[in-house]
Amino acid sequence: MNHSDIRTRYAPSPTGYLHVGGLRTALYNYLFARHHSGKLILRVEDTDRTRLVEGAVENFIDVFHWLGIEFDESPKIGGPYGPYVQSERLDLYSVKIRELAASGFAYPCFCSSETLDKMRADQEALKRPPMYDKRCRKLSKSEADEKIASGSPHVWRMKVPDHETIHIHDLIRGDVQFESHTIDDQVLLKSDGYPTYHLANVVDDHEMRISHVIRGEEWLPSTPKHVLLYRFFGWAPPQFAHLPLLLNPDRSKMSKLSGDVAVEAYREKGILPETLLNFVALLGWHPQDEREFFTLEELVKEFSLERVNKAGAVFDMQKLRWMNGEYIAKKSSDDIWESVCALLPEELESVATERVRFAVESLRAGAETCADIRDKVGEAYSAQGDIPEFSEQQFAFLNSTLEGFAHIETPLWNRFEEIGAKFKEIANASGKANALQGKQLWMTLRLALTGREHGPELAKLVAMWGREETMNRLSAALSARTASERAS
Ligand code: GLU
Repeated sequence: MNHSDIRTRYAPSPTGYLHVGGLRTALYNYLFARHHSGKLILRVEDTDRTRLVEGAVENFIDVFHWLGIEFDESPKIGGPYGPYVQSERLDLYSVKIRELAASGFAYPCFCSSETLDKMRADQEALKRPPMYDKRCRKLSKSEADEKIASGSPHVWRMKVPDHETIHIHDLIRGDVQFESHTIDDQVLLKSDGYPTYHLANVVDDHEMRISHVIRGEEWLPSTPKHVLLYRFFGWAPPQFAHLPLLLNPDRSKMSKLSGDVAVEAYREKGILPETLLNFVALLGWHPQDEREFFTLEELVKEFSLERVNKAGAVFDMQKLRWMNGEYIAKKSSDDIWESVCALLPEELESVATERVRFAVESLRAGAETCADIRDKVGEAYSAQGDIPEFSEQQFAFLNSTLEGFAHIETPLWNRFEEIGAKFKEIANASGKANALQGKQLWMTLRLALTGREHGPELAKLVAMWGREETMNRLSAALSARTASERAS
């Protein structure tokens, strides 16, 4: 096969947010296509009308854009094999079902949902896997035609051969076999005229010239049905690669119920797109060497399906955070500001931007996510906690410090490094005058300014706050004491 003939697709159903497993599938399809100078297609599989979520497609597109994953053909940009949304391709599926009916590979089924429910219940009572008992296969062509002509509601099912071993060569799992008697006569076209996933998926992969189907392991049981459909149509199937499951650290399956599975949630937490791509790339794939850090371009260069494991991949949140911390540490101030800025709370809008930027830069060290930085910044600006009772000596010290502050020229408050030094100088001098020093001095000031025992370096806080806020806090601490004195 010519490299440029390689075409992969990511085919999500628009049922809500983008799952990290979905991202992994999309990423591997992207990496494989780009590695081989092929094309990546985004196809929306929206034939299950009951599960549609408004805005889901726009959300996918937005998230992929944020991550820097570009599609070559998609509902948004179009392409030679569109439309790329299955609900806009219904005519094609009905043509295809007629072809299968004519060649005897599909048959109409008139069983009502009550009949099917009873069939399932009876099978379950006998501890058998629930499967269609193929009763409508027995109808003669004229009987079936007559029912259709009289308007009987019906679906179309595929005629799975009775006794056959179906072989699949999977690029990751090797040879996999399925016995045809375990495969259901799958519904291909529903009574509402919509195809099921199986029919639409196979027709579209063929029509869109998909060369490699790379998808999660949960689709492996569907693959024999697909392989049969390719045969029924007389088409060469694409190559298949089923990716290992994603697991929680306790090795249970990572599902909607356990922890955060939505990519959007990681975005909101301040995980950087490059971290997420790097981390997700390593969920099931490993490079030739021990390297752990890869840019998207490096991943494109290194990626191959041969190095995707069969065993489930554990999603380790600690590792994701650690990795993000490493990425954050290497970021320029401008980049960090841009990422954190989007997360900042509204309350900070009234603070001068340069001050908040200074706060971000002062507090970024050691942060594992941009949300951590946001929280630290929020804390630095948060209101004073309870002010303790100060002794006579502390009170005098704080008073003379406030006095000292009042004499600082306004422009100095805006020179962040210098104001810190000046602040220390004043505090030390006031301390000396009041026989306060070292830890006692700084703790007194910290309690007065923040009402808390811990927090960022005071000199930096003062620079983050500026003149008005610093003076206000100190005055508030002093007046708390004055008020309580007055009351007694
Ligand atoms: N629409 C399916 C999904 O939601 C696609 C499965 C496949 O890739 O064939 O994942």
